[in-house]
Amino acid sequence: MTQGATDPIPFGSESLAQVRLVLRGALIALDFDGTLAPIQADPSTVRMADGALEVLHALAERGAKVAIVTGRDAETVLRLGDLASIPGLVIEAIYGAERWSGGRLVTPPTPLAMSHARDDAARILVERAAGDPGLQGAWLEDKRINMVVHTRRAGDPEGAQRALAPHIEALTQRYGLEMHLGKNVLEIRLPGLDKGASLRRLLAETPAEAPSALVFAGDDLGDVPAMDAARQWGADTGRPVVTIASGAPRSSPVARAATLTVGGPAEVVAALRTLL
Ligand SMILES: [Mg+2]
Repeated sequence: MTQGATDPIPFGSESLAQVRLVLRGALIALDFDGTLAPIQADPSTVRMADGALEVLHALAERGAKVAIVTGRDAETVLRLGDLASIPGLVIEAIYGAERWSGGRLVTPPTPLAMSHARDDAARILVERAAGDPGLQGAWLEDKRINMVVHTRRAGDPEGAQRALAPHIEALTQRYGLEMHLGKNVLEIRLPGLDKGASLRRLLAETPAEAPSALVFAGDDLGDVPAMDAARQWGADTGRPVVTIASGAPRSSPVARAATLTVGGPAEVVAALRTLL
């Protein structure tokens, strides 16, 4: 896609047009970072792309169910995106460990394993960086229910991710946790949480009948299980499905799993706007 944010989208427009025909009752499920909001070196400064909030409101007002499916915690996403006023919004947060809807947050207690792993994870970063200056700048984000090692600020983010991965992997095995790779991140998660399960839950819970159509957009490896779940749901129900990869190289797993590839959050917003 090369058009500006307000131009019609030729690429993929047929599949989006099918969703548009049945927008009332469709599920529009979206990742946050890298999909609705450009990634920043400091995750606390992230803001949604221009027009994102407006298009989410408009979709909800036309009867679509809007959901955010994210690795972040719900309250942070609500605050960064100013999302709470979107009618009917649901947030599947921390890969489905917590859920926000209708102003109500359901969140589990801090997992014991995560509490125990926290000090070890911090120590690994300090010790490794002391022996390898290339790892300086890597830092641990404690999200209570999960943790994220960020390597974006290291001199060579991908090299730092590769160097730290075996140590973080060993840590997660020690505590019965899981390590997942992402874009310049190593995520430490409780086992069994992924966005595929989050999306299947959202698809199953519509009260009267199944959603009329499904759009899912994401940008990273963690979004691939949701894209796979979306494709499976489309095959099972015969209803329109569009999966959008945001800012992912065409050869990447996330782009290969998606039906439509766009350049980044501004173009995700443009694609959503074509549904109105
Ligand atoms: Mg993302």
